[in-house]
Amino acid sequence: MKIEPIEIVGIVDPKLFTDISILLDNDNFKDRIGSLRQEFSEQLNLVLPIPIAQYLEFLKSVKTEFWSRVLDRVTYIRGNFLLTKNYEDVILKSVFCGEVDSEDYFLAKLKVKIDSLDPNGDIPDDQYSIAIFPGVRDVDLSEINKQFQKELHKRANPSKPTDENVADYSWSPQLNFRDEPSKPTIIQSRNWYLTVKVNRTKSLVELVDDLTINCPVDMEHGKRKEALKLGLVNCQCFDESTVRKSIVAYEKLLRKKLLT
Ligand SMILES: [Zn+2]
Repeated sequence: MKIEPIEIVGIVDPKLFTDISILLDNDNFKDRIGSLRQEFSEQLNLVLPIPIAQYLEFLKSVKTEFWSRVLDRVTYIRGNFLLTKNYEDVILKSVFCGEVDSEDYFLAKLKVKIDSLDPNGDIPDDQYSIAIFPGVRDVDLSEINKQFQKELHKRANPSKPTDENVADYSWSPQLNFRDEPSKPTIIQSRNWYLTVKVNRTKSLVELVDDLTINCPVDMEHGKRKEALKLGLVNCQCFDESTVRKSIVAYEKLLRKKLLT
């Protein structure tokens, strides 16, 4: 079953965006999402996808048995595409909403397990755990470290944010950390790829013309290469070959990373 491209909303980190987009734009993956939608749609008597704003309500409304079947299917797909557990929400949101947002994918996550009462009637301590997934970077771990420290301090003494009873926790980032190259960004490449190749809403020439017409730089300037020399970094006057190469590179990425 052919489905519309799955949207990625609010994810600007090139690494996270790439991890997700190469999956969502994979034809085999899209086929699987399409058939799951059809299946669940019939079982629920509901048109899928539903708007992302209704997702939480929807979760509350479904029966436990149905949901455990859903999770089984998600686990099965993860196995087929060799995806770790942090892709679970990406798959669920793809099926039910056709849209994935920044809450759905992470390389490290701080989890808190709060038990209200144990069998003896005592209030047990909250349990913290940190889940780390393949491809995790310094930047992800450093963020989790910050969250964890904050939680520990909060628990140790809610009124004094820097309580000394909290065990010291140190963080040593990798030396020579380099940002990943992102020009033109993967986000832009995917947009162009979807516009020209998947949705075919515009030809390559029309797309390039539109970019030039809508360029936010309002002084007279040439193509983007010249504009950059003048420091006009917002220029969108990409030449045709740059856009074409960028689309080709994106297609190559899709072929290379997922061979299922
Ligand atoms: Zn321009």
